[in-house]
Amino acid sequence: MSEPTRPLPRADEFDTREFWSGTKLKEFRYQQCDGCNKVIFYPRRHCTGCTTGKLEWKRAAGTGTVYTYSIVRQSYHPFFRNKVPYAVAWIDLDEGPRILTNVTGVADPASDVKIGMKVEVEWEEHEELNIPLFRPVIMGSYMDPPD
Ligand SMILES: [Zn+2]
Repeated sequence: MSEPTRPLPRADEFDTREFWSGTKLKEFRYQQCDGCNKVIFYPRRHCTGCTTGKLEWKRAAGTGTVYTYSIVRQSYHPFFRNKVPYAVAWIDLDEGPRILTNVTGVADPASDVKIGMKVEVEWEEHEELNIPLFRPVIMGSYMDPPD
């Protein structure tokens, strides 16, 4: 029997396809209104601030902070059942978008994830798109040049 896999979103929907095509390039894209400067995330057709501005696509650096989190200890889904316990967290990216995701790369999510901790994106690779997950920033690690 093959390993259960993560349920994936559709990459071809009108409002979100620009975001998902960015993930394939490991770019975290979000929208910002050219009228009122409000940061929009998740992707939408209209600004939720002024409702009239044009939304521009921007690219986030992929670093942020844990706004809040919860620990999942039980799941009935075959993929997630193999992951428990794991942290589900709202991450505030430095540019403003807030995303619901997982904090990975910790030995014990119940004690190693903290509100306010610095995190950076880590892409879980798939065929059509990549999933943005976040891991703790080891001080100075994102200052190092890429391999
Ligand atoms: Zn606006």
